[in-house]
Amino acid sequence: MKLTVLGCWGGFSYRDSGTTAFLLESDDFHLLIDCGSGALVSLEHYVDPRALDAVILSHYHHDHIADLGVLQYYRQLFPTEQKIPILKIYGHQEDAQHFTDLSLPEVSVGVAYDPKKELTIGPFSIKFLKTVHPVVCYALKITEVATGKVFTFTGDTGYFPELADFVKGSELLLADTYLFKGHEKHHAHLTSVEAGEISKVAGVSKLVLTHLPQVGDLTQLQQEAQTAAGSETLVVLAQKDLQIII
Ligand SMILES: [Zn+2]
Ligand SMILES: [Zn+2]
Repeated sequence: MKLTVLGCWGGFSYRDSGTTAFLLESDDFHLLIDCGSGALVSLEHYVDPRALDAVILSHYHHDHIADLGVLQYYRQLFPTEQKIPILKIYGHQEDAQHFTDLSLPEVSVGVAYDPKKELTIGPFSIKFLKTVHPVVCYALKITEVATGKVFTFTGDTGYFPELADFVKGSELLLADTYLFKGHEKHHAHLTSVEAGEISKVAGVSKLVLTHLPQVGDLTQLQQEAQTAAGSETLVVLAQKDLQIII
């Protein structure tokens, strides 16, 4: 499977690139993971937004859903001969208003995932773990069924010990790393050190830092995570248009 970073800033867009959004592809199936600010224009470089097969959302903070409305309008308003399939947008049902907004008649339908059950979307199988965050948010552990390859996206989260167990078995961890060393045990986000330590405990070979802070030296953030992760894990910074084969 191929993961493309469409946006990776935390909180707000900055310097020509947007907030959390990733395109995951396998077998000509296109899954959008979160749909932050700028996601739609970034997505266009890789796949026609009318050909997107599904969307899955970790949670409903603006920096993860800002472009959902314009994605719906793109598919609603684009003049086309062929009927565009109704887009399935998977989200949790623990926020009724936001869940309702996923559905637009003839355009998209909100599909509630049950976090206690494994979910199949196209070629992927997905497990969920509730994270530590001011609103309900889920980490996603995604398996490409045909190959058995696995990666985990933390969503937004502060540190909690069960996260490393959940990540075990993944080759790659895509981790919310909004904070530098020294701010551990935060109520909403991981620090560089915590992201590195989770990778080490979980035994992942690659850690990608995302949900990046706009202020501070990102090379330092990467080095702090690398030191905590140890030599068995390669730590890289997410950036727009980064592509990773998993
Ligand atoms: Zn966020
Ligand atoms: Zn959030």
